[in-house]
Amino acid sequence: LPVEFSNALPILQKIRNAGYEAYFVGGSVRDVLLNRTIHDVDIATSSYPAETKQIFDHTIDIGIEHGTVLVLENGGEYEVTTFRTEDVYVDYRRPSHVTFVRQLSEDLLRRDFTINAFALADDGQVIDLHGGLADLNNQILRAVGNPSERFNEDALRIMRGLRFVAVLNFELESETFASMAAQVHLLAKISIERIFIELDKLLTAEFWQKGFGNLLAIKAEQYLPDFSDSTALHVLLDLPNDFKFTNSVQAWGYLLYQLGHVDGKILLKKWKVSREFSLSVTNFLTAYRTRLARDFSSEDLYHLGQSSLILVEELFAAQNLETNFEQITELDKQLQIRHKKEIVVKAGQIMTEFAIKPGPEIGKLFHQIELEIVRGQLKNDVADILAYCKAHL
Ligand code: ATP
Ligand code: MG
Repeated sequence: LPVEFSNALPILQKIRNAGYEAYFVGGSVRDVLLNRTIHDVDIATSSYPAETKQIFDHTIDIGIEHGTVLVLENGGEYEVTTFRTEDVYVDYRRPSHVTFVRQLSEDLLRRDFTINAFALADDGQVIDLHGGLADLNNQILRAVGNPSERFNEDALRIMRGLRFVAVLNFELESETFASMAAQVHLLAKISIERIFIELDKLLTAEFWQKGFGNLLAIKAEQYLPDFSDSTALHVLLDLPNDFKFTNSVQAWGYLLYQLGHVDGKILLKKWKVSREFSLSVTNFLTAYRTRLARDFSSEDLYHLGQSSLILVEELFAAQNLETNFEQITELDKQLQIRHKKEIVVKAGQIMTEFAIKPGPEIGKLFHQIELEIVRGQLKNDVADILAYCKAHL
């Protein structure tokens, strides 16, 4: 048992000693059975939240209405969630009602895929009520129960399914696939932030082509903001089979490039991504378009950042286009400043020195100085900069 589980074993045992059932559940059990590294360990129990809180000295209510109590024990934090069912789905997003139950079997029934519906007992026994072990062995992603109902209850499961395919290299079981395709229009009702998280994980996964190919096969793009140009999206699949995106910026940047976006800002706004992410993608797109026309300059490096340029070169390499990684390294070595703040003379100093009043003149001059320094035509040195000012005023 990996350390994440063995550390959490005392929690399970304490709950059992209090007369309740407790198991490890969810993705960490799946990942351990697949020999993958695990992150969060989830614990499910027959004890109700109030009962769980009585068992432990230190707990925090982090989602009592969903049955989750955070247990602080032995220096660790463990999410302990009461067995529950999610019965009524009114808006296709989240259950309108969760009911706490005492039976593990009912809790496993509400889970999305058979490989996510295991429970692991403290004696190492795997409880597999939905044939998840067989599906793991055969690398099949299959919805628990009636797939059509499951995607109808919560359409985010469609995106989760595509993501698991991309991460695990699994095949969608045929009825699961057919139901995903039949219910795909319900994606329009899911919050875009949650879709973004899943699509982002899909695109940056090892087997993204498989996940993305399935996404296009069920026509999910028709229900994603500004994604409807299927032909453009299919071009992504022309990248070599073994190509993996370095990060989200590269993946989304290339995708937006194929969709014909110049800076991507309009689309990314609809996807409600962070400003920081949007800016990085815009820089990538600018770099990509620039590189199609010419080699990078020191100004490109300064304005777009080294990582944007490298991400572009990597994509060029993947497409067997000529690359120039060395040039970026060379430009980076020569670049005197990474930011305006690093210019050794401040605008105020120039104004005092040459008796310039505030206004556009100083702004223009300072911008010119910045450019000359970036281009390597002016040294970032007090005497040089003042001499430059004198010559240009
Ligand atoms: P990850 O590796 O991304 O954490 P995960 O399978 O653990 O994947 P979580 O979102 O952490 O996913 O959810 C934990 C478990 O809760 C899942 O394994 C699954 O059993 C259940 N679950 C999560 N989201 C859903 C959903 N939308 N519908 C049904 N079950 C879900
Ligand atoms: Mg998880």
